[in-house]
Amino acid sequence: MKILVLNCGSSSIKYKLFDMESKEVVAQGGIEKIGLKGSFLKFPHGKDKVVLEGEILEHKSGIEYILGVLTSEKYGCIKSLSEINAVGHRVVHGGEKFNKSVLITDEVLAKVVECIDIAPLHNPPNLAGIYAVKDLMGDIPQVAVFDTAFHQTMPSKAYMYGVPYSLYEKYAIRRYGFHGTSHRYVSRRVCEFLGVPYESQKVVCAHIGNGGSLAAVAGGKSQDTSMGMTPVEGLLMGTRAGDVDAGVLSFIMEKENVGPQTMSTIVNKFSGLLGISGVSSDMREIREAVDSGNERSKLAYDMFTYRIKKYVGAYAAALGGIDTLVFTGGIGENSSITREDICKDLEFMGIKLDLNINNEIHGDEAIISAPDSKVKVVVIPTDEEFMIASDTLAIVSA
Ligand code: ADP
Repeated sequence: MKILVLNCGSSSIKYKLFDMESKEVVAQGGIEKIGLKGSFLKFPHGKDKVVLEGEILEHKSGIEYILGVLTSEKYGCIKSLSEINAVGHRVVHGGEKFNKSVLITDEVLAKVVECIDIAPLHNPPNLAGIYAVKDLMGDIPQVAVFDTAFHQTMPSKAYMYGVPYSLYEKYAIRRYGFHGTSHRYVSRRVCEFLGVPYESQKVVCAHIGNGGSLAAVAGGKSQDTSMGMTPVEGLLMGTRAGDVDAGVLSFIMEKENVGPQTMSTIVNKFSGLLGISGVSSDMREIREAVDSGNERSKLAYDMFTYRIKKYVGAYAAALGGIDTLVFTGGIGENSSITREDICKDLEFMGIKLDLNINNEIHGDEAIISAPDSKVKVVVIPTDEEFMIASDTLAIVSA
């Protein structure tokens, strides 16, 4: 059984082809700059990276390009498209309509379309990918795996905003949370890894990459998470502001004479590590700048780790204590100094790292807490694509 996983963004498509018997990735790669000058398809081939330039104007021609490479004599790994049994899609926003992954039908598509209102940037490219596969691969089963679905178990006290209730009724304005596929994977995987029952554990997951969110998971169910109706709430991120006093937004709009679109661009694209440091949105570059004495990068870095530390404390309180703290995402998996700075001075709540072990862990599953730490602190590399493939397999086999 081979499953193709597609993650269609506004100007990019990432793909992985899984062999589900061996659980191996048999092909992977991505297209960037869709609809822009210089679009290309990039994928590993043996020890090399192949870059094929081409005029890729929209998602359908991008997916056609990918399918062509998968079946090509030179770079292919399958003889014909009929070897692919199903396609799993990352779909960003399922609103209140989806609390789990589903087989895509016309009815499902109509509901995903309805969610465009609350996810105007994310759902349209996801849908474009689904329509393209329908056109190019006919009746192949397609499955939608939603970033928001795992967080549908949050209680209303955690997901409501303190704005008039009528706005929730009118527009479904509430917190949804994202990175659900990752939080679901790492919260379960860490329990398997530690050999403890998922159903009885209180886990705080810190997914920290270019985008980032924390989730409080108890008994395998998300109880709270730091992103909201959109991915801009919560942590300070690469280019997103995270939590901001709502009053500040109207103040900026008035003073700078900008409309909602520009305001949204400011908090999504020009804030966070980039906006504070003026140097970069990339943590590796921020760390280099910190080490060479750049003060604004130091401020951005300190804000970044401080905000995460506060959420760890908040979620420990919300859950009535925690058993396990998990780090994942590009920064959580790789940056030992960031993990150390987040966990510093948290011994009072039972979090104590083994600094030597922490220093050695870059991208591997490992316990990084000291033996006498009450809370286990663990690194678990996330695998959202494998989760999407597993859900797809389960749904098409059912
Ligand atoms: P995305 O949210 O786009 O999926 P990733 O999870 O890939 O992002 O994380 C990207 C971030 O991880 C970048 O800020 C990058 O600098 C950071 N990162 C990757 N490797 C390291 C490392 N060794 N040390 C510090 N930061 C790292």
